[in-house]
Amino acid sequence: MKLAMIGFGQAGGKILDKFIEYDKRHGSGIVRAAVAVNTAKADLMGLEHVPKENRVLIGQSRVKGHGVGADNELGAEIAEEDIDEVQGAIDSIPVHEVDAFLVISGLGGGTGSGGSPVIAKHLKRIYTEPVYGLGVLPGSDEGGIYTLNAARSFQTFVREVDNLLVFDNDAWRKSGESVQGGYDEINEEIVTRFGILFGAGEVEQGGDVAESVVDSSEIINTLAGGGVSTIGYASETVDNDGGSGSGLLSRFKGDDDPVEDSASTTNRITSLVRKAALGRLTLPCEIEGTERALLVTAGPPKYLNRKGIERGRKWLEEQTGSMEVRGGDYPVPDSQQVASVVLLSGVNNVPRIKELQEVAIEAQDNIDDIREESEDNLEDLVEDDEDELEPLF
Ligand code: GDP
Repeated sequence: MKLAMIGFGQAGGKILDKFIEYDKRHGSGIVRAAVAVNTAKADLMGLEHVPKENRVLIGQSRVKGHGVGADNELGAEIAEEDIDEVQGAIDSIPVHEVDAFLVISGLGGGTGSGGSPVIAKHLKRIYTEPVYGLGVLPGSDEGGIYTLNAARSFQTFVREVDNLLVFDNDAWRKSGESVQGGYDEINEEIVTRFGILFGAGEVEQGGDVAESVVDSSEIINTLAGGGVSTIGYASETVDNDGGSGSGLLSRFKGDDDPVEDSASTTNRITSLVRKAALGRLTLPCEIEGTERALLVTAGPPKYLNRKGIERGRKWLEEQTGSMEVRGGDYPVPDSQQVASVVLLSGVNNVPRIKELQEVAIEAQDNIDDIREESEDNLEDLVEDDEDELEPLF
């Protein structure tokens, strides 16, 4: 599936950069176009893979390239005002060649948090291609203002996109690591999951390698209907000689390449599906009640089989209670791993979002109280008790 990706703000830009690197490394061909947008010049300059001409600095007259400092209302205002500059970069994208847009941002900050719903709304008005969001929730230790920003942006972003895929930094925090090092690893985790999911829809149909390749329309249909999505992932290393003799045809022809018995292949796949769905999701949630799901099994063709995927799919149907669970292969001949990616679309039971909203409301109340108090305090300080002094003007 070919995507036009727009990274908004610092996190959005860095994750976009990582996607391009992943794409180059794996030759997956999912990033058809990449645009990074920011109010902070330094963040744009720090990117390595996004082409220079596709880095758009907005809000120069307002913030002089210094960013909006976690003020997401300002981030949204600037995005509205400078939408033509962003559109200018999007104009260079061959949109007829992309299957969808993906707008990426960290929801706790200012530029991406405020700007990504604005650009999503704009894209939906102009193009017929679906517009998806990839929203990153802040860690709970980042403080009240980040939580408040994220809760407000989340609400707005979900409304403006065809589907919001969520990654929760809080669930992926590793203790004892520098924030930067931590983010590098986290971003790698993000692009691995999304890379397999969207890469699956890029495999040519009709070759002799695949039994039931995932088509990009299946990804689109799973995401259609809107709401919030989460992704699970599990993988296992396998013995692969580099792809020779792999594929359905060679299996029929009985090439010399030893093929493990199909029961082991089936069992491996079903167990990976369970691990993916029950393990750590990008946004932890209850999987029961999920509206639609897509299961992708990636790996060397000789380690993929229809029975395993069918069993995994059935199991997922039982667990989610959904009648719309799709499944398929993503053959990667030279891979040393079999991996299962489970996309759960339209999840409803997400305690983390409720918690985020509670903390956000508390933060909002505190901020209001402090503001009121500080106005009173300042007045007490500046005004003389008997009101005998007159200001100059
Ligand atoms: P902006 O530049 O004003 O949009 O704000 P940032 O993108 O710097 O930060 C927004 C939030 O994104 C932060 O609160 C972090 O939770 C998160 N964040 C920042 N950088 C990264 C990153 O590289 N990866 C991930 N996963 N999250 C990040």
